[in-house]
Amino acid sequence: MSNNDAWMQRDIASLWHPCTQMKDHETLPVTPIRRGRGVWLEDFDGRQYLDAISSWWVNIFGHANERINDRIRAQLDSLEHVILSGFTHQPVIELSERLGQLTPVGLGHCFYADNGSAAVEIALKMSYHYWYNVGRPEKRRFLTITNGYHGETLGALSVGDVAIFTETYRSLLLDVLKVPAPDGFGLPREQWVAEAREKFAHMEAALERHHHELAAVIVEPLIQCAGGMRMYPPEYLGWLREACDRYNVQLIFDEIAVGFGRTGTLFACEQASVRPDYLCLSKAITGGYLPLSVVMTTDEVYDAFYDDYASLRAFLHSHSYTGNPLACAAALATLDIFEQDNVIKANREKADHIEQVTAPLREHPHVGDVRQTGMVVAIEMVRDRATLEPYDFRERRGVRVFRHAMSRGAMLRPLGNVIYWMPPYVIEPGEIDFLAEVTREGLEIATRD
Ligand SMILES: *Cc1c(COP(=O)(O)O)cnc(C)c1O
Repeated sequence: MSNNDAWMQRDIASLWHPCTQMKDHETLPVTPIRRGRGVWLEDFDGRQYLDAISSWWVNIFGHANERINDRIRAQLDSLEHVILSGFTHQPVIELSERLGQLTPVGLGHCFYADNGSAAVEIALKMSYHYWYNVGRPEKRRFLTITNGYHGETLGALSVGDVAIFTETYRSLLLDVLKVPAPDGFGLPREQWVAEAREKFAHMEAALERHHHELAAVIVEPLIQCAGGMRMYPPEYLGWLREACDRYNVQLIFDEIAVGFGRTGTLFACEQASVRPDYLCLSKAITGGYLPLSVVMTTDEVYDAFYDDYASLRAFLHSHSYTGNPLACAAALATLDIFEQDNVIKANREKADHIEQVTAPLREHPHVGDVRQTGMVVAIEMVRDRATLEPYDFRERRGVRVFRHAMSRGAMLRPLGNVIYWMPPYVIEPGEIDFLAEVTREGLEIATRD
């Protein structure tokens, strides 16, 4: 028995894995990882895999990054954790100051949690509570766009719209309004703005009709990641901000997946020059090291909660590991790397390279779309290129790509029929070429019959 097999057996005997039909593991082995360095992961038999999905979209500067390691080690020797209610610490203060400088002007108040779903819950509760505190308790509903994803807890699921995650729990969820999302799928980029304009009419109509009962609109800016890396242009965000202002409805941007450079700017909202009322950040915030999330908001929101204790207006939400010092130290090291290495500029060249090597895949008879925003590229497999008819999900074409890629030393983990790369920013040109080769082969194998 190989070392991998021994670990696999112990794993299956005692674990229940996230986002997994465990029966799949009868035929599709779980891969035990012994160590990581840069973009590479290594299993217990010494095989290496290029982490093309940044370990679930979190790792941006590689595994075992020395600068992040050093910062966490130093923090470990002084303070591993302290309660953030009534107490504070240096890393969380410095991080809040720096995030305030890096995000759109006016988001000066940082409320921390330890994962993305919790950040979404906070933004939803805070928005509802804001209206409650200003004497508008009837503004209690949320409006969003279809195909969104905001996490797995019940509030976050309620504002999400990816059926495989939400459908089973429908009867437990909040009654949320949804309008058709802008979606550039299958369209040349020149047509994205016109398509988004058409879709925005639904948003405008819903705001006009429901604004009196709406607390906030929540969207993932530019890329609906879990919804299959569907993309739309920044113009939509500008129209949304303007309409939310006009109808007196708050705006929540969930940049949990797209924040920290993924779309080509440090934050996606910069591309629309828009400031949301709540900005949710997590995932890459610690470079993929430790769980941390934050909701950043405005003076206006903060002030609506600021009062004498007896007024009972305070936001009494908390999580045990809120603002953990080790996680904040990792986040500070991550921000240092952005600053010192001119990452955004370097990514532009890498994104161009990614565009060049994936462009030929457009010609494949079972590719309906190749789309890219910054350091995310998605290749969507379809049964029929002319009509964009999808493959039936039961055929599990994406799993075939996954299997092939693993056999070739690349971790590609398609979302249904959508093969995507969301690599760590430290990926090298040669490694991009290797991914293109593995993707082309995987596509061939997955669409053969
Ligand atoms: C991953 C994700 C979340 C949820 O974050 P978790 O840390 O997994 O709870 C929320 N919103 C978006 C856009 C995400 O991609």
